[in-house]
Amino acid sequence: MPQQVSERLRDDLDELSSRKLLKTEQEIVSPQSAHIHLRASGERLILNMCANNYLGFSNHQALVQAAHAGLERHGFGMSSVRFICGTHSVHRALERRLTDYLRTEDTILFGSCFDANAGLFEALLDAEDAVISDSLNHASIIDGIRLCKAKRFRYANNEMRELENALREARHCRTVLIVTDGVFSMDGVAANLPGICGLAKRYGALVMVDDSHAVGFIGPRGRGTPARHALENQVDILTGTLGKALGGASGGYVSGRGEIIAWLRQRARPYLFSNSLMPALCEASLTAIDLAENADDLRQNLAARTYQLRQGLSNLGFQISGSDHPIVPVITGDAAIAVQIADFLLARDILVVPFSYPVVPQGAARIRMQVSAAHSAEDIERVITGFRLAKAHVDNTV
Ligand SMILES: *Cc1c(COP(=O)(O)O)cnc(C)c1O
Repeated sequence: MPQQVSERLRDDLDELSSRKLLKTEQEIVSPQSAHIHLRASGERLILNMCANNYLGFSNHQALVQAAHAGLERHGFGMSSVRFICGTHSVHRALERRLTDYLRTEDTILFGSCFDANAGLFEALLDAEDAVISDSLNHASIIDGIRLCKAKRFRYANNEMRELENALREARHCRTVLIVTDGVFSMDGVAANLPGICGLAKRYGALVMVDDSHAVGFIGPRGRGTPARHALENQVDILTGTLGKALGGASGGYVSGRGEIIAWLRQRARPYLFSNSLMPALCEASLTAIDLAENADDLRQNLAARTYQLRQGLSNLGFQISGSDHPIVPVITGDAAIAVQIADFLLARDILVVPFSYPVVPQGAARIRMQVSAAHSAEDIERVITGFRLAKAHVDNTV
């Protein structure tokens, strides 16, 4: 490539590096789990506090076996998009199972939830329509909205007054869609679904919820944030991922009104132009849903460990965002302090990840941990102790 391009990219990378914003990746050399081996940490077992492994399914033996059986029965790949010759009966079975689990009318699978959100808005909305989006929505929602021609409105996180203003402004549009994450991933805060659904009803708007950080472990039987508020019937579109609590491999879906799903099969570009999911993955996902549906014990443990961590860190004087979600963000404000704490904890064999601008607002750096049902009370106690020592360490060095 032209020297000018490589120089520019090298300069940009150097700049990130000098500002300590270069993301590096820890290589895991064991299966994903609450306790892992890192290439950089040799024989030491590392307590993992940053996977989306909410129910501990990432290396669940029932899922491993279901995937093995799926490989034996269905082979490896489909080598086709769904509408050409890439629809296997296990795809339809998983779509029906998700529909039944989420109590919707129909479901369409995507390669990822990112793809689901990327394809949804462009297929459904045109220039006469409006989309009203929470300011903290996931990047895939932001990108999906960019791809459609609808008028765009944005409201500050969970600010119902601002949402109502936008609904008033958009009232002459043909279709108005309110879009929200069920749980906001950087803050561990849930969307105000009762407020949103109430306003949607009053103004005749549709509601779309991305429940990626809820499906499998929030609400009765893990059916998600709409079920938690008994609002399943008022959410028109529910997107989610198979890549977090439900096994953590990959795959996403849109579930909801029958006509919407039928239209997406005709028009959603990531569905039409990207390969269908590996059948063995679908087979294991069916098992994951069976397990999640009956995992009240795991959800109880997850809630107890989450409470323990949030309470323990609050008692130490740390500022924790949210109230009861297993996403536990410890707000440090200063990016360098977040990095210092993370380094300190890793030296004590605890893996956490610091987040700073532009992933979170300037001056709102944080360490975001995620509790898993696979964590023990001792694991959480170790983390709290680690933070106590890290605090003393940082106070001494700042
Ligand atoms: C993780 C996440 C996604 C992306 O899901 P993938 O299946 O990994 O593409 C989309 N939306 C939200 C809210 C998420 O948290």
